[in-house]
Amino acid sequence: MDFDLNPEQKDFQRVWRDFCETELKPYAHQIDETGELRWEAIRKMRDLGLLSLQVPEQYGGAALDTLSASIAVEELGRVCGSTALSISAHNGLGVGPIVRWGTEAQKAKFLPLLLDGEHLGALALTEPQAGSDLLNGAQTYAYRDGDEWVINGQKAWITNPKYAPVIVVLLRTDRDAGSRGFSHILVETDRAGLTIHPPEKKMGLKGSPTQMLTFENVRVPLDNLLGEEGRGFHQTMQTLDSGRISIGALSVGLAQGAFEEMVRYAQERHAFGEPIANKQAIQWMIADAAVEIEAARTLVYKASWLKDQGRDFGKTAAIAKLKASEVAEKVCHDAIQIHGSYGYSREYPVERMYRDQRLMTIGEGTSEIQRLVIARRVLEEQRILDPVR
Ligand SMILES: Cc1cc2nc3c(=O)[nH]c(=O)nc-3n(C[C@H](O)[C@H](O)[C@H](O)COP(=O)(O)OP(=O)(O)OC[C@H]3O[C@@H](n4cnc5c(N)ncnc54)[C@H](O)[C@@H]3O)c2cc1C
Repeated sequence: MDFDLNPEQKDFQRVWRDFCETELKPYAHQIDETGELRWEAIRKMRDLGLLSLQVPEQYGGAALDTLSASIAVEELGRVCGSTALSISAHNGLGVGPIVRWGTEAQKAKFLPLLLDGEHLGALALTEPQAGSDLLNGAQTYAYRDGDEWVINGQKAWITNPKYAPVIVVLLRTDRDAGSRGFSHILVETDRAGLTIHPPEKKMGLKGSPTQMLTFENVRVPLDNLLGEEGRGFHQTMQTLDSGRISIGALSVGLAQGAFEEMVRYAQERHAFGEPIANKQAIQWMIADAAVEIEAARTLVYKASWLKDQGRDFGKTAAIAKLKASEVAEKVCHDAIQIHGSYGYSREYPVERMYRDQRLMTIGEGTSEIQRLVIARRVLEEQRILDPVR
């Protein structure tokens, strides 16, 4: 197994890192303070293919492999968590399902809008009373009326609605069919009866809008069904498997950004007559961070590589997401520790990174759910190896 980046991937990483350094890093503080993404940069991302990472060329996309997409999200996370989350959600959650399950008519209608550099995509799964347990808890419901679906319910904590022309919504289309009673329906955001609530006031990722949606007799054509009726839950699980690679990459980026800040500061700050970087306690934090980031990145690369090979990647994606998100938390924590009081100040980027990383063990499946997914897979594999048990 070879995770080394090929020459094109290395070139892509270099170009993309330069872009992030000039177009985002100097503005990350402002994005956090104002709660607004930098659209000037997002429009330029369109031309670099960053809004269509894995969209096939025939639809105007960059058609990149998963490893390159992970590199892109990592580089974004390294400089600006808010932009990274919104772009990751756009690509993986908003655009991805349309590319994968959309009809040609749906692709022709929605992809040009989603990729135009003026909009971002969104996927609405979570509800006020259900996140981890969508199967039992999700209530949003659609029924047929003539040639339309009529939708009622609420979604919560959704990334990007205020920029989305259309939202992929998971809802029940048959209340008695369990996991086979869910479908995905595309809902244009200008439909009557849809309310997009103001962005939540969050601890971090403040530039990335997170919003509640209320559906009151929202009518959309039957043609807006995305994929097969009754397959929405299955489609969601597949989408989340890929999404976990992306959140893993974002976490590695946040950890890498904080790591670079801690290493720089440790060499600049003096105590007891020398740079604190000379102190063993500081060196151990740096060494541990280097080891953990390397491990997390390797897992993210492995999950990306498995996906690109067309192999089963679900367990590795969950492992990568779990590890990388917990590494981001530890590294950002230690980066603040090394900065002392300055790390606690909004003037230093590690304070923002610490707040931004906090979502990573929650979104797209909490750490507890990742552990459930991993354990279930391990036990299944064990039963296959040893069927007598
Ligand atoms: C900034 C942000 C952006 C988001 N973006 C999106 C988005 O774009 N689209 C979307 O659909 N959602 C989005 N979410 C929602 C997010 O995915 C959910 O919040 C997450 O899945 C957890 O669901 P919950 O908050 O309902 O927690 P709950 O499911 O209520 O869980 C609460 C706690 O119980 C634990 N728990 C639950 N079940 C078990 C179990 N079986 N065993 C052990 N522990 C368990 C959880 O791990 C957690 O610690 C976003 C959230 C945030 C904060």
